[in-house]
Amino acid sequence: MTRHKYVIVGGGMTGDAAAQGIREVDSSGAILLVSSETHNPYNRPPLSKGLWKGESEESIWRPIPKGTEVLLDRRIVTLDAKRKQVTDDKGTSHEYETLLLATGGTPRRLPMQSDRIIYYRTYDDYRRLHQSLARPARVAVIGGGFIGSEIAAAVRMQDREVVMIVPEQGLGARVFPADLSAFLVGYYKEKGVETHIGEGMTGLEARGNQLAIKTTTGREITADLAVAGLGIVPNTDLAQQAGVKIDNGIVVDEHLRTNVAGIFAAGDVANFYNPALDMRLRVEHEDNANTMGRAAGRAMAGANERYDHLPFFYSDLFELGYEAVGELDSRLETFSDWKQPFREGVIYYLKSGRVRGVLLWNTWGQVDAARALIAEPGPFTAQSLKGRLPA
Ligand SMILES: Cc1cc2nc3c(=O)[nH]c(=O)nc-3n(C[C@H](O)[C@H](O)[C@H](O)COP(=O)(O)OP(=O)(O)OC[C@H]3O[C@@H](n4cnc5c(N)ncnc54)[C@H](O)[C@@H]3O)c2cc1C
Repeated sequence: MTRHKYVIVGGGMTGDAAAQGIREVDSSGAILLVSSETHNPYNRPPLSKGLWKGESEESIWRPIPKGTEVLLDRRIVTLDAKRKQVTDDKGTSHEYETLLLATGGTPRRLPMQSDRIIYYRTYDDYRRLHQSLARPARVAVIGGGFIGSEIAAAVRMQDREVVMIVPEQGLGARVFPADLSAFLVGYYKEKGVETHIGEGMTGLEARGNQLAIKTTTGREITADLAVAGLGIVPNTDLAQQAGVKIDNGIVVDEHLRTNVAGIFAAGDVANFYNPALDMRLRVEHEDNANTMGRAAGRAMAGANERYDHLPFFYSDLFELGYEAVGELDSRLETFSDWKQPFREGVIYYLKSGRVRGVLLWNTWGQVDAARALIAEPGPFTAQSLKGRLPA
């Protein structure tokens, strides 16, 4: 049995940010951070971007605040909220005064099994893909969302063959307006990516050293390995054991507390209320992991602050890149204010005359202005938004 004032389950960006947050408020309380990974906390975004463009691997490691004991390669398997203790998979129990669940998410898997599929999430996944590309290889990327689009670009930039299998009608189709999503398909093709859009996967079999992938159009696509970017499922098992309320993630209040005394949650796993959008969100992005993790740590250590941050997110796709804030849902009404079509501009997402989200396409330094616009009551029209946030 170990005893710590603070126990953090999950050694991702959120867990590490929480340890930092605790230390800002409490300079000496003992912190235990338990991670099922074998590595100290690191930044995930470079795994699909910077590391493929020459950024050094040393740059991804995050500082660990003093007085934090890190237990690696240990999974917390039980949570007893009455006794205020968690137990890991080696049978050791850890007592806490306050607990943070920063358990993130697990990649969704395909029904077909193969050890040639990488469900891309961790540093080990990066290392495996990187090693596989040391010699010529053909990589199938399954999914055209954030991870799929970024990995396809990263692999192609290593001068390796990439074939994308995307069930939706374009790239980033759930987020971008249809014309931008279609433009991206052409852009990826120009970069030498083979794209199969509107084609789902129906089967997969090993054929010698290769994979044969069958699609909904009856096509068969061969590749040396596949990378799947199918989204994540929030890791809520522990919370469930303890009677913590779950609804698309772990439900937290404005102080990031769950409904069970002494238990907090933050990051990809947490479902929180955002006042600017007047809705509950579960956000799977870096700014939220860092900001909410830190806020949760501060709250655990007694700071009485509300988490009302509207997180931004970003991505890089070859030479294109963007930052975005708010509700980016391609089903909303959109107004695209291009400086140069599909290359540089601002896209506004609207609902009932209010701006719900802003996509800053190759447009930088406008995140705070976008947040302010979302907070304004409006009503807004395409006319009144033209030139509002200059590209
Ligand atoms: C490849 C990649 C690229 C990304 N790029 C961007 C980007 O460009 N921009 C952006 O905004 N966001 C990006 N993101 C998203 C961002 O990295 C995530 O939102 C963030 O990492 C979430 O952090 P987290 O700590 O909440 O969850 P996770 O990263 O999922 O970490 C949770 C940790 O908890 C551990 N764990 C879970 N259960 C247990 C348990 N029971 N016991 C012990 N340990 C446990 C897991 O092993 C994991 O280490 C990217 C993500 C990935 C994977």
